[in-house]
Amino acid sequence: MTTDSTTSNFIRSIIDEDLKNNTYGGRVHTRFPPEPNGYLHIGHAKSICLNFGLAEDYGGKTNLRFDDTNPVKEEQEYIDAIIEDIRWLGFDWEDRLFYASDYFEQLYEWAVKLIKDGKAYVDDLSAEEIREYRGTLTRPGKNSPYRDRSAAENLDLFARMKAGEFPDGSRVLRAKIDMSSPIINFRDPVLYRILHETHPRTGNEWCIYPMYDWAHGQSDSIEGITHSICTLEFENHRPLYEWLLEQLGVYKPKQIEFARLNLTYTVMSKRKLLKLVKEGYVSGWDDPRMPTIRGLRRRGYTPAAMRKFADMIGVAKANSVVDLEMLEYAIREDLNASAPRAMGVLRPLKITVSNYPEEMVEEFEVPTHPQDKSNTETRVVPFSREIYVEQSDFMEDAPRKFFRLSPGREVRLLGAYYVTCTDVVKDEDDNVTELICTYDPESRGGQSPDGRKVRGTIHWVSARHAVQAEIRLYNHLFTKKNPEEGGGFIQNLNPNSLEIIENAMLEPSLAEAKPGDQFQFMRQGYFAVDSVDSKPGKPVFNRTVSLRDSWKKQQGKK
Ligand code: ATP
Ligand code: MG
Repeated sequence: MTTDSTTSNFIRSIIDEDLKNNTYGGRVHTRFPPEPNGYLHIGHAKSICLNFGLAEDYGGKTNLRFDDTNPVKEEQEYIDAIIEDIRWLGFDWEDRLFYASDYFEQLYEWAVKLIKDGKAYVDDLSAEEIREYRGTLTRPGKNSPYRDRSAAENLDLFARMKAGEFPDGSRVLRAKIDMSSPIINFRDPVLYRILHETHPRTGNEWCIYPMYDWAHGQSDSIEGITHSICTLEFENHRPLYEWLLEQLGVYKPKQIEFARLNLTYTVMSKRKLLKLVKEGYVSGWDDPRMPTIRGLRRRGYTPAAMRKFADMIGVAKANSVVDLEMLEYAIREDLNASAPRAMGVLRPLKITVSNYPEEMVEEFEVPTHPQDKSNTETRVVPFSREIYVEQSDFMEDAPRKFFRLSPGREVRLLGAYYVTCTDVVKDEDDNVTELICTYDPESRGGQSPDGRKVRGTIHWVSARHAVQAEIRLYNHLFTKKNPEEGGGFIQNLNPNSLEIIENAMLEPSLAEAKPGDQFQFMRQGYFAVDSVDSKPGKPVFNRTVSLRDSWKKQQGKK
């Protein structure tokens, strides 16, 4: 696979400039800072590829740091899953796994320093009052009546907050900056709140927790991060982070913002994904319809495809929405090159080959990687008198250009024989239940016996050798390109996002398939053996993506 990860972008230009000027002593040190309050999604994958990719390209380092400052929402389950997912994507932080909670003591000491310097105070206003006092973009804020407490009083109250003397929400620690600043984040931002909650790592050691604004910049500083790459919504926080680091007189990383990934037909916020899971709209974080790394992985997405996708979308300074088809293109490209081919009939229609001997079985050797001439691997598919073909490969009253089965028409059964439909069997309700065909023994291997041509080649499976399987087909999880359109994303859930086919018929080589194995079912798409529900003897396959590429085509038209 080709990768264009070294293509220039604005972040690289900044790093190049810093290296040229020796700003950070020639170092490139990035980090990926997830909050463990949910599973990672494809947007996070973009950020992961960006941070780890830059460090790889520049010979630098990347830390994994959990921003675990809110014990109300964070869980060990999420920490474990995040670690596994980043590893699966193929990135390595070596021994640099950190937690913001590692720095709670240091952050506390720094807060004490701010108080002593007259730059922070304990406020007794309620959350609502604080919001009211903050003002708006057009209206300056006003000072809290507690703003001028003495350093001694603040130190005492802060120590007692830490000691657990006060209930949740009764007091906060705020930076003392400027309530009329045009930069809203400078209007005395909250640094600490009281939360009597058990933390996944620090247990009940703390009952005051740093706000993200207080923890994030300092964590970057402690770790010596050179380029702190984050999404655009933190642009407004950058002046505050810099101000805080200046007050503390510590090392200052450079924050660079980029546009977060948005995808059509997809919600990406963890809050919304959690709602889909908690309220049972999907089967879990790993439901193959979810945009989570877990879900995509179970669906059959590969790390290579996700990294390729991250390269394709690049990084930008302006928010935009990427077509979901582009992600599908990335996986299709990857699987087209790597996935072994197989035959699977999703909606079977039986054919009896009337002139084929009843007990006879022939084995045809067919290429497993016909797309790759250098790969000569083959497999054996048995042929017998009764076979299945796709219902959609037959039409009774077919138009002239229907190059598949219809009374009197001849097609090639891939790699086997030419067959001609001679009869149609129906039930009382006039439904087609079976086709009778004859085969041309001279067309063995699907070769023309006399130069006569057939226009159609269709896939098939020998009935007596077939492996029965459940197939899960997926459609967009939402009916609207923008899932929020109209009433919101729950209203726009697609009732047909999952279609289950109970009794598909697959060629017998697939009996050996193991969870996670991937195939192209010829003419049907790419399929992966489900890692959760598939059982030996009762395989379940997820369709990763169909064969039809709509993205490349659109690009061609533009
Ligand atoms: P969400 O909005 O999904 O809840 P978040 O930003 O709260 O995500 P974090 O755990 O804080 O989730 O994210 C970790 C990192 O991943 C951050 O640096 C964040 O900027 C980045 N990130 C999150 N979502 C996206 C996205 N859609 N595109 C690119 N980067 C993202
Ligand atoms: Mg966040």
